[in-house]
Amino acid sequence: MPERIYLCQPIAPGRIEGRLCELYPQGRLAREEGAFARPEEEARHFRREVAQLARELRGSVQQLEAEAMWAEANIMRTHVALLEDNHFHHRVRELIEIGRQPADEAVEQVLQEVTAAMNDSGDARMAERAADLRDLAEQLTDRLLGHGVDMVEAVAGVESPILAMPELLPSAVLKARSVGVRGFVVMRGTTLSHAAILAKSFGLPVGRVTALEELEAARHPRIVLDADNGRIILEGPEVERSTAARAAAGKPAAVPELPVKLWLSVVDPDQLQGVDWTGVAGVGLYRTETLFIQQGRDLPDEQTQAAVYRRLFEACGRRPVVLRTADLGGDKPVASVSFGPQENPYLGVRAHRLFRFHPEILTTQVRAALLAAAGEHRLRLMFPMLETLDQWYFVQHLVRRAVNSLREEGAPMPGDFEQGLLVETPSAAWGFREFLDVVDFAAVGTNDLVQYFFAVERDNANVAQLYRPEHPLMLRLLSRLARLARWAGKELSVCGEIAADPAMGPLLMGLGIEHFSISPPQLDRVRQTLASTSLQDSRQLARRCLKCRTADQVRELLGLPAIGDLETPAVLPAGQAVDPVCGIILQTAESDFNLLVDGRRYYFCSRRCLRRFHHG
Ligand code: PEP
Ligand code: MG
Repeated sequence: MPERIYLCQPIAPGRIEGRLCELYPQGRLAREEGAFARPEEEARHFRREVAQLARELRGSVQQLEAEAMWAEANIMRTHVALLEDNHFHHRVRELIEIGRQPADEAVEQVLQEVTAAMNDSGDARMAERAADLRDLAEQLTDRLLGHGVDMVEAVAGVESPILAMPELLPSAVLKARSVGVRGFVVMRGTTLSHAAILAKSFGLPVGRVTALEELEAARHPRIVLDADNGRIILEGPEVERSTAARAAAGKPAAVPELPVKLWLSVVDPDQLQGVDWTGVAGVGLYRTETLFIQQGRDLPDEQTQAAVYRRLFEACGRRPVVLRTADLGGDKPVASVSFGPQENPYLGVRAHRLFRFHPEILTTQVRAALLAAAGEHRLRLMFPMLETLDQWYFVQHLVRRAVNSLREEGAPMPGDFEQGLLVETPSAAWGFREFLDVVDFAAVGTNDLVQYFFAVERDNANVAQLYRPEHPLMLRLLSRLARLARWAGKELSVCGEIAADPAMGPLLMGLGIEHFSISPPQLDRVRQTLASTSLQDSRQLARRCLKCRTADQVRELLGLPAIGDLETPAVLPAGQAVDPVCGIILQTAESDFNLLVDGRRYYFCSRRCLRRFHHG
């Protein structure tokens, strides 16, 4: 078969080849294109997933009984009974076949009906059971949406699997690594999402496409995912050519000297296995939330954390390790904590704001970090999301509590212990001078700082064109932070995604940033980019950019396309659609305006767009 080339939006860089595996139920992705027209398939899909879930739950019942956990076993048994209940099956099938609803929505609706009846019964025990049923509903809808499909099964026996799935999810990225997945092709996800950051950390390339079906003409087709150049090559001779080219180009390049220091950003200590430390100062950011995500419904206890952190310190020896305290909430929700009602999680309970309710989360983590670094290691504790000095004193109070408790126990302490600030809020940037009086070091988390500075969600495709780290206002802010840190004699690094952006690297260097923290797979590329520009040239570039008034003027100096020429977000599946008139991405379930034309449903943001579409 001749090769075919598809364009993809790079979400995480890298180029790999392998075989495409699907991680979603058959037929599911066709839904946006009119799977309502195939209710029999949807009903079959429903029956298959229910039967599988019931089988697994029956296994859990047996296991729980064997462990004498009778109450839990009983709850599970009621779940199995519901899954096998005739009325439940009948009602779901009715919604699919007559109401032409997709299976997950039908299940969602029926379980809502059941739980509403239980809540209305006035019986407290029934109401409790209703809450329990939510969990069952989630498990089932997750499966129907493909999130629950077993990844191990999906990639079994496949050489170099590349996963095709509707959405890039943090849990999927974490699991993918352990089952040998080499990359992802997705239809939803942005480069700044937490899942994308995890993928970048693990060196897993991710490309976003508008529709996956085209790639799946054959079972497990062979593809080259070239997320560096935004291409997916399907079958054909280029696959072989690329292998040969890579083998020929295998000689490692010499490590160039740089006027700045490079650090590694990691999400898991295992990423440091086999790292060549030449020219690397240490770990500039360890995102500890990953451990919290991996623990599922339990928060990791002190012992578990200490064991993981110890692996990190052992891998680093005497090199400093910046361990960021748990930044839970926002784009990093965890199953172990409920964050309460919040309209905007980015402005709600996040990082230290959670510690006000649960100070023990921070004290446990600090104790674990100190225990793990005991001896010759160098611990740098870094606090994200602090707004003002008030919060610095709040976390310091908890750190002292942790330190004192360890001292009382006579526990050994690290050779070196410093504390620093991750500048992520505009108020922390504005009050940076005062922070510098109290911190030992600082870093800029540009992913969040840009978000809060411009009040533009970091992970929202509809406003992605307004999220501009290269805007002269942002550059002036970074330049000021670098200058203040230099005057105070404190280290300042950049650990947001722009640190690894080849277009931004020389500019950051010219703005006075002397420390870059990047994930291991990006190390060589960043090193080469920074080595290709002299400090003098980068300073001149920075001076010119700082004089600009608009982002497009900076982009021109950086050789980047104007913002208006950037790709506008494409059609997104699984509950999202693009208004064909104005181009905004909509949540289909929330859109009041839609139109069925020739079997295809179109969604609109307003009556106005609908009318325009209708009248051509
Ligand atoms: C940042 O915001 O730039 C950062 C380093 O933190 P995260 O991306 O994990 O929120
Ligand atoms: Mg952040």
